[in-house]
Amino acid sequence: MSPPYTVNYESPYLIGLTGGIGSGKTTVARLFEQYGARIIDADEISRDLTMTNGAAIPAVLETFGKSYIDDTGGLNRKTMRELFFTHPDARKKLQGILHPMIFSQIQKQASLATSSPYTLIVAPLLFEAKGYRKWVQRTLVVDCPEALQIERTMRRSGLSELEVKQIMAQQMSRSKRLSLGDDRLENQTDRATLVSKVAALHRRYSALSAIRY
Ligand code: ATP
Repeated sequence: MSPPYTVNYESPYLIGLTGGIGSGKTTVARLFEQYGARIIDADEISRDLTMTNGAAIPAVLETFGKSYIDDTGGLNRKTMRELFFTHPDARKKLQGILHPMIFSQIQKQASLATSSPYTLIVAPLLFEAKGYRKWVQRTLVVDCPEALQIERTMRRSGLSELEVKQIMAQQMSRSKRLSLGDDRLENQTDRATLVSKVAALHRRYSALSAIRY
């Protein structure tokens, strides 16, 4: 009989990276990448799935109708955003279509061979969506005060304060997210401070990935 665990020396060390909207997940992931981490980004996969002829488009069309597909055959983000605003449940419906597809794509990418010491799975809904938490070895929460999340997101995306707050209201609370994470990365000061914090975490994760067997 096989043991209850299987040691697979080929398996990558997986760290789930999450945080609320505008907390700095992408910025932090890019810094880790510069140190040699492999990055798999759920948002990027989501964009691929919903672009022209993306794999999720047939299901979006069937669930929401033609008004939510644009002239190029991709997701119409404008009408979908308007729908979210008037029908907040629509966001959950779209997530119900996308999340299983995103997770399976992430798992596929993570199974490819890598020379990186560890792989960061960047997923805004790491704790909310099924599957991630049990699958990764460790989790990192990027965190900053909510007022800063709103300010950064508005500046970057052009969303209104109300729209950002509406998205935040649908995400897990900051305190719950922090209570679930193994590690926390404060991103409320300048970039130079952030760089040194990422460097320290990189050393830690490289060491953890090397001593796990
Ligand atoms: P989203 O959830 O919307 O995808 P995110 O969590 O990936 O956002 P980023 O895109 O990394 O967050 O950051 C949001 C904005 O804040 C970006 O414009 C980024 O350049 C800026 N930003 C992030 N961290 C800092 C920082 N320490 N100092 C200044 N600006 C920052």
